[in-house]
Amino acid sequence: YHGPLEKVSDYCWRIPKSYKTGMRVDGLIYANRELLELMRNDQAPEQVANVAFLPGIQVASLAMPDIHWGYGFTIGGVCATDPEEGGVISPGGVGYDINCGVRLMRSNLMYDDIQPKMNRLVGELFKNVPCGVGQGGRFQFNAKELRTLMLQGPRALIERGLAVDRDIEHTEARGCLDGARPDLLSDRAIDRGKNQCGTLGSGNHFLEVQVVDQVFDDEAAQTMGLKAGMVCVMIHSGSRGLGYQVCDDALKALRGVPEKYGIHLPDRQLACAPVRSPEGERYIGQMRAAANFAWCNRQLLMAQARDVFENVFGRKWQELGMQLIYDVAHNIAKFEKHRVGDVEKSVWVHRKGATRAFPPHHPETPRDYKEIGQPVLIPGDMGRASWVLVGQQGSMEQTFGTTCHGAGRQLSRTAAVKKSKGRRIDEELLKRGVIAKARSWKGLAEEQPDAYKDVDLVVETVHCAGLSKKVARMRPVGVIKG
Ligand code: 5GP
Ligand code: MN
Ligand code: MN
Repeated sequence: YHGPLEKVSDYCWRIPKSYKTGMRVDGLIYANRELLELMRNDQAPEQVANVAFLPGIQVASLAMPDIHWGYGFTIGGVCATDPEEGGVISPGGVGYDINCGVRLMRSNLMYDDIQPKMNRLVGELFKNVPCGVGQGGRFQFNAKELRTLMLQGPRALIERGLAVDRDIEHTEARGCLDGARPDLLSDRAIDRGKNQCGTLGSGNHFLEVQVVDQVFDDEAAQTMGLKAGMVCVMIHSGSRGLGYQVCDDALKALRGVPEKYGIHLPDRQLACAPVRSPEGERYIGQMRAAANFAWCNRQLLMAQARDVFENVFGRKWQELGMQLIYDVAHNIAKFEKHRVGDVEKSVWVHRKGATRAFPPHHPETPRDYKEIGQPVLIPGDMGRASWVLVGQQGSMEQTFGTTCHGAGRQLSRTAAVKKSKGRRIDEELLKRGVIAKARSWKGLAEEQPDAYKDVDLVVETVHCAGLSKKVARMRPVGVIKG
């Protein structure tokens, strides 16, 4: 990228709308100097500028410090559109993995106490939590049951003993977007969902045993039940083949739709439809169904992890204190109220590789977390660290209640594999104290720590920019991958 990046502050840079005719607003990229240099090596800032063409876009096309190149929109991008101003909805602004997201479960176990059992624990997790490309799981749902899951989210799993009320309370949107239209999904999407609920998938998705390494905010950590040395489980997955198919179907259905509504776009991958159009409404209904499915998926993954801990430690998960701290989406579009200038507006916030970060006392922040703000979960990589933060008022003022979602890739998958030639990533990780198990060697190579930026730099940026506040740094001790 060779275009302009004007300094707004030490942590924010502007692409002025004068950069390209057709930009309706500026682009704003959050980054410190070090991360900004990395971004110049990539076409991601160009994509930030392109998103500014979308009809109805509000304030700015926003990007988080973990941005990298994605389909049409960057991964790490945020854009809000106002339906009153012809605002659009775009599948590329949500991503292929609809409601990909992260959940974090705590425990009463201290790492020092369970360390001798780590091999067995990770081995059992790998055996019992289905992972790998297209891999099916132990739960089978027929079309009618799937429909219920897509309408209700994980609440529907309570009666099967696979979820408790507290899990639902600690899930973004209580795990259910209203207005889901499972009836609009293609047969192929439904078919792919039948045996994939409760499976990790491949590549970037993981289940990780982590230890609280350092606490930065005592009050927030205490409220979440976190303290140094404690064992937690982080789960990263999305809507599997079902969501992928929904996105793919929608992109096909939207071919030619921008032209129909007279929308001029600099990149075909930004395909979109007005929120208030039959095509827009259709995608929104489908996307909501896939999002609810994804929350069920992460719930079932957590239920299976609880089972494994019960077996390995010989106590019920409740006794082990394995409560869900929070579950948050990072590929989703939501209809939310935000202040734009002096007025409150209802806008469609697209978060693609970006995490909601609502501040203390926001009506959507769970009761238990009213005083501290909504928990934000940021995976880093399997060798270094991941983070827990809480949302801050600054996110409402600057980024439509949003912060980063990870470290962000710095090597393409191909480059990462090339860099792994002749190395044993699992052995390298073991030397760093991490037991890693993966279905494929290539998967591990693509996801090696070097493939990602330094998550501490990304987190430092969003912390200093006032979007979200550091609570705890977690270090990995065991990871399973597809
Ligand atoms: P994405 O949803 O964009 O694929 O991934 C989100 C983030 O997860 C990445 O930017 C990366 O920082 C992080 N990540 C990918 N693999 C792993 C892993 O195995 N362990 C941890 N802790 N983080 C990971
Ligand atoms: Mn993800
Ligand atoms: Mn995903």
